[in-house]
Order: sequence, then C-alpha cells, then structure tokens
Amino acid sequence: MKKLVSIVIPAYNEADNIFVIAESIKKVFSSIAYHYEIILVDDGSADHTLEKIKEYSSTAENIFFLEFSKNFGHQLAVKAGMDHAFGDCVISMDCDMQHPPELIPDMLKKWEEGFEVVYTIREEDKSLSKGKRSSSSLFYKTLNWLSDIDLEPGAADFRLLDQKVVNVFRNFQENEPFLRGLVKWLGFKQYAIRYNPAARFSGKSKYTLKKMFRLALHGVTSFSIKPLYSAVYLGFILSFASVLYIPYIIYAFANNVEVSGWASVIMTIVFFGGLQLIILGIIGIYVGKMFMQTKNRPNYIIRSTNIPQK
Ligand code: UDP
Ligand code: MG
Repeated sequence: MKKLVSIVIPAYNEADNIFVIAESIKKVFSSIAYHYEIILVDDGSADHTLEKIKEYSSTAENIFFLEFSKNFGHQLAVKAGMDHAFGDCVISMDCDMQHPPELIPDMLKKWEEGFEVVYTIREEDKSLSKGKRSSSSLFYKTLNWLSDIDLEPGAADFRLLDQKVVNVFRNFQENEPFLRGLVKWLGFKQYAIRYNPAARFSGKSKYTLKKMFRLALHGVTSFSIKPLYSAVYLGFILSFASVLYIPYIIYAFANNVEVSGWASVIMTIVFFGGLQLIILGIIGIYVGKMFMQTKNRPNYIIRSTNIPQK
C-alpha cells in the first residue's frame, strides 16, 4: 500500500503562485511511490488567490482547499491544514517557492528511517536584504535568550510531521500557536535538513519588520515566564543599589551639605517611569494572553471547503 502524504500550503495574496507550487509538487510526486494530497489554505486573501485555488482544485481529486472567513495569520493557516489532513505524514510549506519542493523526497526518506519530525533549516540567504537577515538573526537570538526553547537560527516553517505528531497538535487549543517553538517543545525523534532558499516566485513577503517583532515577542511570552523573573531580579538589584545610597544622604543631612540635583532627579524619574511601564507592559501581555485564551473562541473559522468531513 502506498502511503499518503498531505501537503499543507497557507496562502495569503498569492494568486500567481498557486499553480506554480502545485505543479512543482505534482512533478516531484510523479517520480516517487507515494500518494499525495494538497491542502491549500486561503487565509482571507484580498486578491484572486481563492479563485485560483478553486480553479486548480477542480482539476484533480487530490487538491483540497480551506477558505478562512478572514485573515487569521500564517500559523493558524498551517494549523488548520494539519487539522484537516488525512495523510500518514503532513508536510507544511510556503506558497512562494522559497521552500524547494525538491527537498520532499529527502524528507520522506528520513521519515521512513523513523524520524517523526523532519524540519528544515535555511542556509543564510545572500540575496535577502540586510534588514531581513539581521532581523531574522536577532529574532532567534532574543527568542533563545529569553525563553526555554532552543531554536536553530533559520528554522523554517517547512517541515514534515508524522501522523502521530499531527494528532497531538490537533488537541492544541492555543489561540496563537507558534509552530516552530511548539514542534521543538513536543519532542519526538527530530531530524534537521539544511537547504538553500530560493527567491520568492511572485509577490512580496508578508512578514514586515513589525510583524517579525510581534512574532518574537509572542514567541517569547508564549514559551516562558522568564521575562517576569527578570523584572523581579531587576527590582531587587535597583532596590539594593538605592539602599547603598542612604548612608550618603544621612551624611549630607547631618553635615548640612547642600546636594544639588535637579537634573539627576528628573533623569531618575523618567528612567524609572519608563522601566515601570515596560515591566507593567510585560505583565500586561501575559494577562492579555490569559484573557484571550479564557474566552475559548475558535482559533480559526472556515467559510468553505471541499474536504469531506471526517
Ligand atoms: N501567509 C499566510 N497568512 C499571512 C501571512 C502569510 O497564510 O497572514 C503565508 C504566505 O502566503 C506564505 C507563507 O505564509 O505562503 C509565508 O509568508 P511569506 O513568504 O510572506 O514570509 P517570508 O517567507 O517572507 O518569511
Ligand atoms: Mg516567503
């Protein structure tokens, strides 16, 4: 019996990429002995992505689509695809050809060897802008420093998960899953493959610097409460430092020494005002996450699909 491989592809304004990626996957599977299905997830695109997806899925029986009711973001689009996949393993990859489909046979080989997670690490891409490269490296450094997981720089959302792992994921109800971190956290037998990313086939990246920053902040706060501890430590250090200052003040009072210091008082107020706001903000992020999660809203809403109900 040939095994079934599900390919999950999130798409947000990728009208020109749908055919290209689907055709190149078809080509890859024409030379290996697996059945495959493609699940294209339209993440509330504003262009003709959905039409292209529907058009393509009507040409073959193994092409499925999920249409979100609005844009829920890349991570949830991948999650939705995995939730609906039938395969013995699920491969998630981007729509823009940056994740080379030619790598799929290698990933499957490792899977057959018994690895339950085969993830990929992108080699440093010289063609990417300097801003993108340094923001990406900063992203991983901050993440690893501040949280309890250890992500390799360049870890991509191009990965194969065994059905077992996918089933575990189905029970995750986090409303903002950070898949790269979660996959690492899950354990299982994992294997990393390195690859050279291609240039985007068409369109432009949806990850702006602002989004990267949000993702980093989110990655840290959803994996660890280390930032809360650092607030406590910082508080201790500063209180201790201020205690050391008391003898000097007593001395100044006792000896009638005039201490001038308008500038330093203002500086101190501003500095600590800012610091307190930052720490309050960090606590706020955690409280906000708890609030969002307790509402128990569905993580994503599907408007239409051609996937038969399980
Ligand atoms: N994507 C998505 N929803 C979003 C943003 C992106 O489904 O809100 C998809 C996008 O269509 C692509 C993948 O996620 O298939 C990765 O996005 P992109 O190529 O823009 O990111 P980059 O490769 O620049 O990190
Ligand atoms: Mg891309």
